[in-house]
Amino acid sequence: MQATEALVRDVVQQVLKQMGGDAAAVSTSAGASGSATSSASYKGRYGIFTDVDEAVAAATEAFEELSSRTIEDRERIIGHIRRISIDQCVELGTMEMEETKIGRLEHKIEKLMTLGKKTPGVEFMKSEVFSGDHGLAVIEHAPFGVIGAITPVTHSLPTITGNAVSMIAGGNTLVVNPHPSGKRVAAEGVKRFNKAILEDVGIDNLICVISEPTLESADAIFSHRGVKMICVTGGPAVARAALNSGKRAVVAGPGNPPVVVDETADIDRAARAIIQGASYDNNLLCIAEKEVFVVDAVFDQMMAAMERNGAVRLNSQEIARLTEVAIATVGEGADRHDVAAKDFIGQDAAVLARAAGREIPADTLLVFGETDESNPFVPVEQMMPFVPFVRCRDVDQAIALAQKHEHGFRHTAIIHSHDVRNMTKMGRVMDTTLFVKNGPCMSSLGLGGEGYLSFSIATPTGEGVTTPLTFTRERRCSLIDDLRILGKA
Ligand code: NAD
Repeated sequence: MQATEALVRDVVQQVLKQMGGDAAAVSTSAGASGSATSSASYKGRYGIFTDVDEAVAAATEAFEELSSRTIEDRERIIGHIRRISIDQCVELGTMEMEETKIGRLEHKIEKLMTLGKKTPGVEFMKSEVFSGDHGLAVIEHAPFGVIGAITPVTHSLPTITGNAVSMIAGGNTLVVNPHPSGKRVAAEGVKRFNKAILEDVGIDNLICVISEPTLESADAIFSHRGVKMICVTGGPAVARAALNSGKRAVVAGPGNPPVVVDETADIDRAARAIIQGASYDNNLLCIAEKEVFVVDAVFDQMMAAMERNGAVRLNSQEIARLTEVAIATVGEGADRHDVAAKDFIGQDAAVLARAAGREIPADTLLVFGETDESNPFVPVEQMMPFVPFVRCRDVDQAIALAQKHEHGFRHTAIIHSHDVRNMTKMGRVMDTTLFVKNGPCMSSLGLGGEGYLSFSIATPTGEGVTTPLTFTRERRCSLIDDLRILGKA
């Protein structure tokens, strides 16, 4: 039997060699019985690689080792990731802020702590069973192997932390191509995680990171034979690239979450929720409130409530000045479209106000103002703490505009209302992965609402808020006619 396996492996290796393939792929696909042949060669690298082939080989080796360990070991490994995320959140959050230069320091710190505490772990691993006249069938959830992960600049280490916990809980290892502008904190966090895991559990490189990431290294991960699944978290370009990669892909794509406020809403509560959600980390969250459609009957009250609760209102000339500099146009011909200008993404509200020609207190969380639907801040995912408010005839118009400007991303939508019919109507029309009623966006991730958390919310591919089970494949084990212990002997 062993001789046959060795023969098969040799043949596969030869074929792959002719096709220009790599040995790492062989050890995953044909090496079910053995540990990686290059074992120990990557120990001590703590997951830091410049070369994708090496990173995948190291993650493959780590996967083989992890596969021989218990669920308790997985929990222990995840425990180190959680502990470092929580205990070192100030240092690592500060590092992320200094490197990326977007967002708010207190939220960079809080995100790491929250992901360390709340990312779903091994407790999400469940099996299903069918018990009947013909025995038992058990459905178990097996790992894919090495997962290629692409992470955004908006949450570089937080996304890696959340992905690592969920993917390792499912029994996988990962190779991460971080955003180039968040690569240093990504590498530092990964190094700390791997070092602690190696010292305690004896496995290195469960999380590998490409320390000099490029679009080419992302492509190399997408097409690598040793990568069994990919998970991308990012905007439209990377979402498209992942969907075209030919691999099983979990795609956490872009959003442009609209908010509807109708005449039955608790206006002050709505204002507080919008300020909390839209200003968090300077509006970098993909789920964050990006534009608000308010029915005419309560529009003026709503604007007053926003000011009462601490947001600063810009007038139409100020909004025009801000729009001029904070929205850019890219692309040619039919591809020409507006995007958020890089220099303003994730900057403080006071910086936006200054660009609009107004000095406001440095600690202001959010600026806002009335625009019409045609202002580019409405369709563009701005990722900065200015939110446009559009006056609508009635709730039907508000919902129609919300649907139009969500662009069919099916990501997140929010309503403030006490009318169950309006909530239902909007929920049906939007068809989004997350639909929040009467709370800030983050309450949909269990932060002030029910449910659980992930920073990779798979939208076009439909897995929703990712968990360890997202990164597993089903295996069914059937025993025919026996082991159903119910009934007479
Ligand atoms: P981005 O799309 O610029 O970059 C994301 C990642 O993809 C980076 O690592 C980048 O280097 C890589 N990338 C970009 N184009 C690529 C291509 N053609 N091929 C391969 N890799 C490519 O986005 P960003 O500014 O870093 O992050 C913000 C975006 O991410 C927003 O659109 C936001 O909505 C989205 N996001 C979504 C979720 C979610 O859970 N759905 C979570 C966070 C962020």
